[in-house]
Amino acid sequence: MPIIIQQRSKCIGCNYCVEQAPEHWRMSKKDGKATLIGAVQKKEFWSLKIQEAEKEKNVNASKACPVKIIQIR
Ligand code: SF4
Repeated sequence: MPIIIQQRSKCIGCNYCVEQAPEHWRMSKKDGKATLIGAVQKKEFWSLKIQEAEKEKNVNASKACPVKIIQIR
């Protein structure tokens, strides 16, 4: 299964990931950064396993992220 990894601390809150994959991303009203919904935190990295069918949208989110903090493995 693919895994999304976000280095959340470096998020600049541009909303591009939400536009690409709204099922997995939302903007936090608390700190203005993107939250990977349902993700597990390990230090500054958040990760979430997804289905193969959900990968493409998140690859697009990764490509759209201006600070390159979204990885898909
Ligand atoms: S695309 Fe990157 S910088 Fe922009 S909100 Fe999403 S994670 Fe943050």
